[in-house]
Amino acid sequence: MVRYVDLIYKKRFGGEHTQKDIQQIIDGVCSGEMPDYQISAWLMAVCINGMTMDEAAYLTEAMVKSGDIMDLSSLGDYVIDKHSTGGVGDKTTIVLTPMLSSAGVPIAKLSGRGLGHTGGTIDKLESIPGFNTSIPTDKFLAQVKKFGIAVGGQTAKLAPADGTIYSIRDVTATVDSIPLIAASVVSKKIASGSNVIILDVKYGTGAFMTTPEEARELAETMVEVGKRLNKQITCVVTSMEQPLGRAVGHSLEVIESIETLKGNGPEDLTELCLTLGAVALKKAKAASSVEDARKILTENIKNGKALKKLEDMIVAQGGDPSVLQDYSKFQQAKFKEELKADKDGSVSRCDALTVAKACKMLGAGRDKKGDPVNMAVGIVVHKKVGDEVSKGTVLAEIHADDKEKLDQSIELLSSAYQIVDEEVIKPDLINAMIGA
Ligand code: URA
Repeated sequence: MVRYVDLIYKKRFGGEHTQKDIQQIIDGVCSGEMPDYQISAWLMAVCINGMTMDEAAYLTEAMVKSGDIMDLSSLGDYVIDKHSTGGVGDKTTIVLTPMLSSAGVPIAKLSGRGLGHTGGTIDKLESIPGFNTSIPTDKFLAQVKKFGIAVGGQTAKLAPADGTIYSIRDVTATVDSIPLIAASVVSKKIASGSNVIILDVKYGTGAFMTTPEEARELAETMVEVGKRLNKQITCVVTSMEQPLGRAVGHSLEVIESIETLKGNGPEDLTELCLTLGAVALKKAKAASSVEDARKILTENIKNGKALKKLEDMIVAQGGDPSVLQDYSKFQQAKFKEELKADKDGSVSRCDALTVAKACKMLGAGRDKKGDPVNMAVGIVVHKKVGDEVSKGTVLAEIHADDKEKLDQSIELLSSAYQIVDEEVIKPDLINAMIGA
């Protein structure tokens, strides 16, 4: 009989777990023998006292082994997977997966739903009428073989320990811990079976890591944990101080993704997709250099091949491909209202977390697991940090279904913005590349 209380004591007083300790905890999590209150106490002790690299690797390995590992070897020598640590307006997967697939490398991507204030790719894709994200593994693999692309929901069979632990972390203030995030992300990526793993590690008010230093430490931890488990991982550290692109909200983000694949995307989103994509293609030996890879991806946006891949995926997953041309096919919000600048100047802040909260207030997020999300509502930020504005310039547009929520949301949204008299330099999006 395992005495979980002793393991909690050990971590509470800063002790180092052995591989056996960690295996016992993960076994207890999976069997239900370790109750939620003891898991919570242990998670809090890890959050406060941290973990050594050995412990983080043992935890990741035990979480991988808690479930199935997908075998993607029949899909080719290289299969790419990409994951973001979570952000606001982060629709990168919807743009990047068709781009990569159009360059001839299969993409088998399992994504999640929204967590905390961050949005989830699966929720976003479900705003496409008919689009199915719960695909059984055999159909998922058959789709990747036929079309070179599939994006489905994380199944309960892969790294199930992460599912249990994550839902407890979400409600016990234990999300923003480097070893816990590293084990959560890397275990899922290893269990998903791909061999080219690119991670977008975010920092800023809209991310779980607030500073670039913390994000780089998280990235280094994930690269090292991957190494110890024989997986090469590359991390790109990027800013999430303000929303990525302009749209925040499910169908609004899918529309922006489609526009990006048509070559009309916002500069930051396009740049991030090209950067992540170029590294991935080079790693998958589909291009001789990162520069060549960028050229291929840019060309495939221009010639429509990347958009065609999105269409293939929508059709294969039961969605209505006419959304690619006719955006009225998406659910539409009843009300639209503009937030305008109250003075001349330059935008010095467009705070990602506040925008996310204002968006959640409209019904775009969940308060508890399983809550429905409103696909139509959201916010489009027309002006971002470094943009010059005059009094009356439209800063953002709110799409709402409820007048009262709209009024509350617009008030909160106005506090996300700061306008100053002096010129503001546009901030860099990409901070570092680790493990390249
Ligand atoms: N994304 C994950 O999958 N896990 C975390 O812990 C944080 C972000």
